[in-house]
Amino acid sequence: MTSVAYILPVYEEEENLAVFHAAMQAATSTRPDLDFEFIYVNDGSKDNSLEGLLELRATDQRVTVLSLSRNCGHQVAVTAGLDAAGEADAVIIMDTDLQDPPAVSMEMITMWQDGVDVVYAQRRSRKDGAFKRATAYGFYWVLDRLASIDIPRNVGDFRLMDRRVVAEVNRYREQDRFLRGIVAHVGFRQEALLFDRDERYAGETGYPLRKMLSFAASGIIGFSTMPLKMISRLGFAISALSVVLAAYVFGVRVFNPDDSVPGWAFLGVGMFLLSGIQLIMMGVIGSYLGRVYVETQDRPLYSLSLVARGAS
Ligand code: UDP
Ligand code: MG
Repeated sequence: MTSVAYILPVYEEEENLAVFHAAMQAATSTRPDLDFEFIYVNDGSKDNSLEGLLELRATDQRVTVLSLSRNCGHQVAVTAGLDAAGEADAVIIMDTDLQDPPAVSMEMITMWQDGVDVVYAQRRSRKDGAFKRATAYGFYWVLDRLASIDIPRNVGDFRLMDRRVVAEVNRYREQDRFLRGIVAHVGFRQEALLFDRDERYAGETGYPLRKMLSFAASGIIGFSTMPLKMISRLGFAISALSVVLAAYVFGVRVFNPDDSVPGWAFLGVGMFLLSGIQLIMMGVIGSYLGRVYVETQDRPLYSLSLVARGAS
């Protein structure tokens, strides 16, 4: 039978788990032709989430519980779940606070059975506050311009992946993980499914501003060495400015020779020129550093989606 595994990261969701799992059971019961597995990953919660999960496991044998030894963050929790998903034909990553509606995941399954390898849920609307919306917008704007690959906008980690895609994603072992970027990098046939994101059922977001900023930085730094190259650009701009300044100084000397303090021309032009050259050279170092960085990420060069060898 075709099997689908849900990867469900849990961080301090004790008030949500029972309601969440009931909703999952209700949604998945509409597809008796599929084998479901629920892989809950407790990400070092300090509340009673782990006890709650073990209770779920006692009542539903399709539940698997993993518990990380400390809080490693959502992206790592999901990675642990993906590593454990092993045999499943498809994997669905979902939040456990009921912001991602279980019914939408059933639509994902239909799209997957029609041949789509990655179905990512794209938010048609979001019920977050104005601040979260504005910061998210700014982040995607910057990411769009800097990143070396196309990472779809308004897409979280709520998505379905075919087992072939999961196998490829699992080859990316970088420490600083930005999963939606990695999935985009892997390729295959990816399609969006529009949905309305609900409000958190109970509890508080595990993503305060501080974590959100560092997450945004992982996205940009993980998929772009542009910030390093920008040092050089700034250097060129400042050097160019020194040329303009030199022309100005020349003008002053020729047309108004009495009106100047001795030495200022040399200092002014020299300062711009030298700091420009310094920045250019730092940018050169940055370019090499960028290459070292990309090499140390040690990502797979490519992923094959089909191999059809000759018959001989
Ligand atoms: N989460 C996690 N580890 C963390 C923070 C969050 O595993 O350090 C889980 C959390 O339980 C939820 C999902 O990741 O299932 C999304 O987190 P949250 O709802 O707090 O983020 P938001 O929806 O506000 O972006
Ligand atoms: Mg949430």
